[in-house]
Amino acid sequence: MESMYTHHRRRLLDRLTQERTAAVIPTARPKVRNHDCDYRFRPTSDFWYLTGFAEPGACLVLLPPQSEGQTARSILFLRPRDVEQEIWNGKRLGIEAAPEALGVDEAHDSADLWNELPELLSGYERILYRLGDEEEDDRHFIALLKTLRGKARGGVRPPVRVIDPAEYLHELRLIKDRDELSAMRKAAAITAEAHAAAMASAAPGLGEQQIEALLEYTFRRRGGSGPAYGTIVAGGANACILHYTENDQILRDGDLLLIDAGAEKEGYACDVTRTFPVGGRFSEPQRAIYELVLRAQQAAIEKVRPGTPFDAVHEAALWVIVDGLIELGLCRGSREEILEEGSYKAFFMHRTSHWLGLDVHDCGAYHQDGKARPLEPGMVLTVEPGIYISPDNPDVEERWRGIGVRIEDDLLVTAEGSENLTAAIPKELDAVEAACAGATLAELRK
Ligand code: CA
Repeated sequence: MESMYTHHRRRLLDRLTQERTAAVIPTARPKVRNHDCDYRFRPTSDFWYLTGFAEPGACLVLLPPQSEGQTARSILFLRPRDVEQEIWNGKRLGIEAAPEALGVDEAHDSADLWNELPELLSGYERILYRLGDEEEDDRHFIALLKTLRGKARGGVRPPVRVIDPAEYLHELRLIKDRDELSAMRKAAAITAEAHAAAMASAAPGLGEQQIEALLEYTFRRRGGSGPAYGTIVAGGANACILHYTENDQILRDGDLLLIDAGAEKEGYACDVTRTFPVGGRFSEPQRAIYELVLRAQQAAIEKVRPGTPFDAVHEAALWVIVDGLIELGLCRGSREEILEEGSYKAFFMHRTSHWLGLDVHDCGAYHQDGKARPLEPGMVLTVEPGIYISPDNPDVEERWRGIGVRIEDDLLVTAEGSENLTAAIPKELDAVEAACAGATLAELRK
């Protein structure tokens, strides 16, 4: 059976063939963490989507036919086997095994990549390549363009367009197929267990980092590759720092705890936020803000269905939040005035949704022809409104200060409407308080 990666490659090659475009798609280069230690290697998402191959030092080259009778070629450049290197740094698939293992037509030594490309790309006027990701690759690529232009004197057509992957590849990635959704459901199940464990374990006196460790332990223990992005464990007013990742403070009774954390599974991200009381019970002001954010999220989720313009999801959440802020006395004026002036941005300063997939902020255009694009089946997006009241905001009553709440789920657009991939994670007030008291996911489902 064809693997999902071969399927993705074939779909891209179909498009490249129509457009007479060759493609050069390198994976990531290892990144130094400090001195002679690298971060754990993660392939680029484009490369992973097309190969499922996790070794560094590789590049995929796709060559559609240039004339009748020719067939398309997929060539993977990769590191050869090396007994000495493999003892130190881990096993390599090797050139001989790659075509069979990965379904590519040919495999070549990655050391020959930039030397072989002038010949392989000869005659293609359009080349898909992402400039700006890796300077060293870019330098090679620019030298390659010069070489190809030099060949023009010999009658070979030189490249006239370098095309960003956004145009074809990222549009493919935006619509998830069954295999991708299967990976995303696994990531969601792992993430659900981690969030439930965090709710059951959080208690006054524990450190944010202990909850972070529990989340990431659960991600790895359940077979995820780890967190899909920097885990946020923000107690009390730390929740008002949107990208808080220090996670080094002590949890206090009476505070809320905002956790934004998701597992990565088979390269696919889950992205979930829950907010719950450290001591297990919401205070009145916390409850009021939480209920408002939850209502806003539900209004936004109801909008998720084919045909809804992307921006309408955010607007639905925003209107509920603005009306609620007026009701609670946190904003003054009419809905129209508040939207016009943007005074709500003191409390809700980010947007409600982003695409989700191999990247946590996944690729794919949000606008088409100057308008918000309509949602389509197979798209996955987050829905994550929030309210953050600065501890230093002098314009609100003291009881509101330092409350930060965000609620985030991952929504798949279906033919009929939507499916919440992360619905298993406690979110209603009663369910959250039950999970804080130690109820498991299985008990909460009853
Ligand atoms: Ca998030």
